[in-house]
Amino acid sequence: MYRRAIAPSVLAASLLLVIPASAASSVPGAPGIGDPYYPASGNGGYDVSHYDLRLTYQPTTDLLQGTATLLATAKQDLSRFNLDFGLQVSEVRVNGLKAAFARSGTQELEVTPASPVKRDKPLTVVVKYAGKPSEFKVDGWTAWHRTPDGGVAAQEPDSAIWWFPSNDHPLDKATFDVSVNVPDGTQAISNGVLQSQTSRLGWTRYNWRSNKPQATYLATLAIGKFDITTATTANGLPIVNAYSKDLGDHAGAARASIERTGEVTEWLEGVFGPYPFNALGGYVPNVTSGYALETQTRPFYSPRQFANGANVSVVVHELAHQWYGDSVSVDGWKDIWINEGFARYAQWLWSEKEGEGTAQELADWAWSSRPAEDPFWQVKPGDPGPENQFHGAVYDRGAIALQALRNEIGDEKFFEILRGWPTAHAYGNAKVGDFVRYAEKISGKPLAQLFETWLYTPGKPAAPSPKSAAATARSFAAPTAQVEPKSWKKIAATNTVHDHDHDRGRGHDHGH
Ligand SMILES: [Zn+2]
Repeated sequence: MYRRAIAPSVLAASLLLVIPASAASSVPGAPGIGDPYYPASGNGGYDVSHYDLRLTYQPTTDLLQGTATLLATAKQDLSRFNLDFGLQVSEVRVNGLKAAFARSGTQELEVTPASPVKRDKPLTVVVKYAGKPSEFKVDGWTAWHRTPDGGVAAQEPDSAIWWFPSNDHPLDKATFDVSVNVPDGTQAISNGVLQSQTSRLGWTRYNWRSNKPQATYLATLAIGKFDITTATTANGLPIVNAYSKDLGDHAGAARASIERTGEVTEWLEGVFGPYPFNALGGYVPNVTSGYALETQTRPFYSPRQFANGANVSVVVHELAHQWYGDSVSVDGWKDIWINEGFARYAQWLWSEKEGEGTAQELADWAWSSRPAEDPFWQVKPGDPGPENQFHGAVYDRGAIALQALRNEIGDEKFFEILRGWPTAHAYGNAKVGDFVRYAEKISGKPLAQLFETWLYTPGKPAAPSPKSAAATARSFAAPTAQVEPKSWKKIAATNTVHDHDHDRGRGHDHGH
């Protein structure tokens, strides 16, 4: 698909031989950022530092109108560059001048500035657009949740293309101002701090700011009728939670879980170190999906997460991601264990604290309850492939890997690592290999074999037992825990956490 789009520029390059070399060095930015799991995701040639999104949304029609202003820097001399976006664009300006634009592929917007942009020069891109996000489909699927009273964008790895143009990959993180105009009586929820809220002529504008680098898939937008609760943590962090007025019987359990956000964060700070952002919260829109997502500072929770009563475990999982996934993001999507192994392990630590099963007991049960022939053991958490990016093995085997590390190096070093890593890579990106090296550095032990076994070798390894003599003997015989820990089913129920309802769409979108 891109070959056809690239052909004219190849022709152009040959014609450029007669003009000065400086101009000839301008070439189109790549249509993807280079992630082998999702070749169309992100783009090459520039880096975004800030998104300013000024939106108007009409809940009755699902019409979203917007002006997006992207502040970026050219990373090469650019004759043209791509944005990832699905809605209808009416105008694009680059550094103030109207630019030509064209669509290609499923999500590419090719922008040709009036004149080439020089490397290291600022690039201000203004995109005016409108459309109904529910009508933009990639092979029949839309990430946009249409609700009876509005709409919601919260998906992984793709959601941005349904509501704003971007360099849609975690490698290019940026700060965000999201300003949304909605009819009075409707609320607009996004990330970070609500800077202001003003009403005029029947419309209310909500101005949200996320002031730390944020991956595009962690930007969220929820429009609907919400009950909003606010509070402040002991450390002075503002908490904003939002609950659809339409949660029915799930309303009580949702609040009984998410209103503990401050308490859970305080506990996580004891494990992972200082909370990396300046705002907290969570929201539950009236969607029909089952998953939750760690949207930055304000996780998204589906009402179904609360079908069996309060579910603090899922709150622990999504808040753990604020350190592991949001502040420290994947370098490529193959590094998903950096997110999910740790968020799952945080749930195990919470269970340990609550007296509902220790992390060791949960690791033992996760190991012993799956026979060696279970396909579960064929998934490599360290490089699961796009089709298994959110497979249960990335979570459970990924968390067993951490228990194996804990047993190998002892609690003191283990928790020093859990606490040190988010600071060492704060607001950046990291690979699985970076974590292995960090763990080796802090522990002073060679760990390549341990991680090779647990993250990269298909098949069922020996049990992840503690290194006492008795336990070592036991590990060669039988699993150490034959009893299901009390928290097991509760944690397993959060496995729809990243059950994306869209394997079909994703396969078509990125599988070629
Ligand atoms: Zn997760």
